[in-house]
Amino acid sequence: MNKIFSLGKLALYLFKSKFSMSQDCLFCKLVSGQILAKEIYRDENILAFHDINPQAPVHFLVIPTKHIDSLNHVLPSDSECLGKIQEIIPQLARKLNIFENGYRVVQNNGANGGQTVFHIHYHVLGGRGLKWPPG
Ligand code: 5GP
Ligand code: ZN
Repeated sequence: MNKIFSLGKLALYLFKSKFSMSQDCLFCKLVSGQILAKEIYRDENILAFHDINPQAPVHFLVIPTKHIDSLNHVLPSDSECLGKIQEIIPQLARKLNIFENGYRVVQNNGANGGQTVFHIHYHVLGGRGLKWPPG
């Protein structure tokens, strides 16, 4: 009985990973551990890590572990996870000492938005005064 249950769980895991991971997506590779990042936070649905090319003293990215190309591809079933990201961001901002002075959350979407990695992600930038409007 236990064996059947475990096989069922394995099948469900394989099914979920097949449909939530994009083979050639850089951030999916960070999620799976194929590529390493300086991780700040990880749970089943969310990963946060330092940006490899920081644009401010503190610059990290928060992503859903599920592959979603961009905001244009968000489904109603993604709302809970994306909502949770907004709850996690201030907690991580506090951890990295940018909570009090403020920080900026940026989500580049599509070509004109400047998106270069097509796995939805939220930039969190802080540690200096940031100008507005952006370039
Ligand atoms: P976008 O331009 O799509 O909004 O942001 C993509 C971000 O991912 C960029 O800020 C870029 O520096 C970051 N990035 C690209 N490749 C890697 C990587 O391999 N590791 C980490 N930690 N960040 C990356
Ligand atoms: Zn991905």
